[in-house]
Amino acid sequence: MASQLIREWTGIQQFPPATQTKLHELLGKLKQENVSTLTILVMGKGGVGKSSTVNSIIGERAVAVSAFQSEGPRPVMVSRSRAGFTLNIIDTPGLVEGGYVNDQALDIIKRFLLNKTIDVLLYVDRLDAYRVDTLDRQVVKAITDSFGREIWRRGLVVLTHAQLSPPDGLSYEEFFTRRSEALLKIVRLGARIRKQDIQGSSIPVVLVENSGRCNKNESDEKILPDGTTWIPNLVKTITDAVSNGSKGILVDKKLIEGPNPNDRGKLLIPLILAFQYFFVVKRIQKCIMDDIAKEGKPLWG
Ligand code: GDP
Ligand code: MG
Repeated sequence: MASQLIREWTGIQQFPPATQTKLHELLGKLKQENVSTLTILVMGKGGVGKSSTVNSIIGERAVAVSAFQSEGPRPVMVSRSRAGFTLNIIDTPGLVEGGYVNDQALDIIKRFLLNKTIDVLLYVDRLDAYRVDTLDRQVVKAITDSFGREIWRRGLVVLTHAQLSPPDGLSYEEFFTRRSEALLKIVRLGARIRKQDIQGSSIPVVLVENSGRCNKNESDEKILPDGTTWIPNLVKTITDAVSNGSKGILVDKKLIEGPNPNDRGKLLIPLILAFQYFFVVKRIQKCIMDDIAKEGKPLWG
């Protein structure tokens, strides 16, 4: 019996008081908007820091982190509640195996999500990677094909390992801009988001540093090289995504067993072909038959 255990969110008390205050404010705002549950889905390739990010948000070691890709094959949902508010974070195994997207892993994730509503998707990758490739695009495409393109309206790109010194004399900002633009381009391609669709609703990119060696400010809060307190910043971006007017994604039977949710229009294709057959091909055939009939006896008969 896999009964869902919702524990008190005690990890929040591990944060320094300044961070706690900010988090309580953000959650209080959500409650004002009548949002009392938040379900966050964390996805990405293996080893990019998905599980570490889950632990950082919760403030405790809730899921296993491994330096060498030996994650369990199943998703794990961590649920914590605080003052009538429930936070669910779903950690998933990496989607890539042997250079390809592992469809079986994806299928297990989809089934795990049955009857759950995804409020926010965290698409995790590393800041300190220098190129994107077709595999990244395939991972994004796999997510898009599973949950529909709308999931990106509730999507954040999260970049871990954010405490870095950029190479080649680039400034931190320049490096961040280049890396996030390269990744966003891949996300747009993989999700088939057109340029005109993204105006005013672009996908936010958020930086994260999960390492215990993350720098801190005078209030003992973890900060990025540019001074941003990243935990409240991440949670704020998550709550903003919930309040942006889009809808969460309900993972129902139709979504996981039906056709690719982005291809619904294509279901009409057989109908259109049938229509053409009966009303165009049949007509022409009839005309030809009539012609033949009118010819009467063959000339050589
Ligand atoms: P997952 O496979 O995506 O769940 O990745 P994990 O969370 O298991 O992390 C893989 C490895 O990267 C572990 O050794 C983590 O300690 C390390 N790691 C994760 N996030 C960060 C980060 O932000 N900074 C640094 N320095 N290491 C990280
Ligand atoms: Mg993991």
